[in-house]
Amino acid sequence: MDFMEQAPIPTPFGVGRVNCYLFPENDLTVLDPGPATKEAYEELGRSLDRIGCSIDDIDRVLITHPHIDHFGLAGRIVEESGARVFAHKDAADRLSDPIGYFAQEQEYFRPFLLSMGMPADTVDTVLELPEPYVDYQKPVTVTHELTDGDSIDVGVDLECISTPGHAPGSLCFLATSEDAMFTGDHVLSDITPNPLLTLAPDSDTRTRSLPTYLESLRYVLEISATVGYGGHGDQIPTLHDRVQETIAHHQERKERIADLVAESQPTTAYQIMKEMFPDLPATEMFPGMSEVIGHLDLLEDENRVVISEVDDVTRYELDTQQRR
Ligand SMILES: [Zn+2]
Ligand SMILES: [Zn+2]
Repeated sequence: MDFMEQAPIPTPFGVGRVNCYLFPENDLTVLDPGPATKEAYEELGRSLDRIGCSIDDIDRVLITHPHIDHFGLAGRIVEESGARVFAHKDAADRLSDPIGYFAQEQEYFRPFLLSMGMPADTVDTVLELPEPYVDYQKPVTVTHELTDGDSIDVGVDLECISTPGHAPGSLCFLATSEDAMFTGDHVLSDITPNPLLTLAPDSDTRTRSLPTYLESLRYVLEISATVGYGGHGDQIPTLHDRVQETIAHHQERKERIADLVAESQPTTAYQIMKEMFPDLPATEMFPGMSEVIGHLDLLEDENRVVISEVDDVTRYELDTQQRR
């Protein structure tokens, strides 16, 4: 048997399957078990059966980041197996109270989205939508809070690499002996993860997700690992190449958004989103806004935009001193 087995678990989300990884040595470890659905539970059971194990044998659950498609099932696993739960310390609060966190976020993002130029009725729709998703996650208590540099022996040593951005408390797990890294949603083979806006840990302001995310991508480039095992899709044959591609994708998109600002300035994040993604359904508008605001944050950090507020609405225009 290899040092780990990959188990693609079905999810009810557009992203498709989530990759769960099973480590059968030194007690049974499961990395990212999937969402709390009957289908995911049964598929995980079948995958464990193939390596001669069952759900109540699980000793450790490792969570790369606090998104439903990755951790939702962890609470049920703990109930049935008494497994220990390992996640980054910045993910612990949202894992133990995902519904409470969601309510806090709705409260914060209502005025925020209005200030970004989104019409009030659209804001209502966008913030109501995730409610059914509540069913796909169970609260789970993190018994072992992790930080960058911590190490877990799952038959091979996994070193924790802190990579916030796509989510607060995002972790990659480096298996030096295998020249490989488990990347969660931080690096994926064929999609670029959304820099989702969220509340910053221990604070009442939003994250600057994309600048943070790009910093975490550059951090991965400093670490030696050839193969990436992502949270969705195929394995990544050359991790650093994929990281470079992802950085380049955001550079291009940033320039495209700078052009859109120049065409209709002063403009709002919402107007830019409508121009970039004219047919976006309301379900996708929060990720869409996150994408646009993330790149506007990058332009702001480079002093390329001037930000002003008129009637509580934030407007962006290119800094004429800096225009290129
Ligand atoms: Zn995610
Ligand atoms: Zn995911």
